[in-house]
Amino acid sequence: MDAHSETTSIASHDLDTFELAFGTEKPSAVEDDIKVLDTDGDVVIIVRDRETRRSKQFVASSKVMELASADFKDLIQDRVARRAVTRIEDGGRPSISLGDDNIEAMELLLNILHFRSVDIPTTLPPLKTLAMLGIECDKYDCESALAPWILIWCRNIRVSDITEQTDLKYVVLAAHKFKLPNLLTILSNVGSHMTSATLQKWEGDPLLDNYLPMSVLDTISRKRQETMDSLRELIEGGETALRLTATAFNMTGVLCPRCARRYPDGAKNCRPCNSSTTLINRLCTAEHRVAEYFVVLKARKLWPTVPPFAACSPAEIVKRLGQPGPAETEHKCSAEWRDGICQLKEQLSVLAESAEKILQ
Ligand SMILES: [Zn+2]
Ligand SMILES: [Zn+2]
Repeated sequence: MDAHSETTSIASHDLDTFELAFGTEKPSAVEDDIKVLDTDGDVVIIVRDRETRRSKQFVASSKVMELASADFKDLIQDRVARRAVTRIEDGGRPSISLGDDNIEAMELLLNILHFRSVDIPTTLPPLKTLAMLGIECDKYDCESALAPWILIWCRNIRVSDITEQTDLKYVVLAAHKFKLPNLLTILSNVGSHMTSATLQKWEGDPLLDNYLPMSVLDTISRKRQETMDSLRELIEGGETALRLTATAFNMTGVLCPRCARRYPDGAKNCRPCNSSTTLINRLCTAEHRVAEYFVVLKARKLWPTVPPFAACSPAEIVKRLGQPGPAETEHKCSAEWRDGICQLKEQLSVLAESAEKILQ
């Protein structure tokens, strides 16, 4: 710990500090922490956490605070005018008591304002912290002071890399509060990666109720639904496309017409049935391709469509569409022997590519 970041505890008996800061309200049994951001600091910022009700004090530079935000300037000048001072150390500094904040985010914000690079992550902070910082940034109008850090962090946000559904709401909050230029793209990507269960949870989420306009949620919900509708149309349209081509091809292997057992090419009869039964060629017809199309979709847990479309995110549907299925590995017909491609394989390939494009 260096001289500039000493963190000590204020004894809970130092109630004068709190009477000045919070009026007659006494602190909880939890001791206050104090962090010195500037050893020559001339103001004490008292932050109270909205969730834990814990407080933390920061010895700060009033000049820096005033330069960063007109809101801070008003608060400090009002406090100085009212001569409300703390007794921290021997300073008798004015105290600014803030309420309903997030201590971690406020500490990060104050570190940035005081050029404490050593205490600022150079990579993307936890998304919850980023969202809370966005709320504080918007609340105290510190957008321009934080702009370089916002740029560094938020250009590394990849919604597709987020594995926890809970983190999606923090990305939305941060993007909205920081007024990111690619906000619409982020909202669209979030819509593509969220499940309907998550969307339902968001309706009534106190954090979102307080800090996110309903129009943002509506945009995400609409984008998600549009993507789902396009994917459903794509999957169902595959059957129609397959029926358009009537060409039939020979397939590998032969079939017993009695029991439908399959045998390799060259087999002469089906012993379980009757040695005199003539085995027949298997044919890749439009009907066969349609039937196998649904076998592939079922193997990928996409048919029937209702359960996966109710439970999955659009991104998960797209991922399943791109998975290798039995048709790619087993279906072999004479279309390929003629350097062509079977419509079934072509349709499955188009399906995966088109689905990726819908998601982009
Ligand atoms: Zn048979
Ligand atoms: Zn075929």
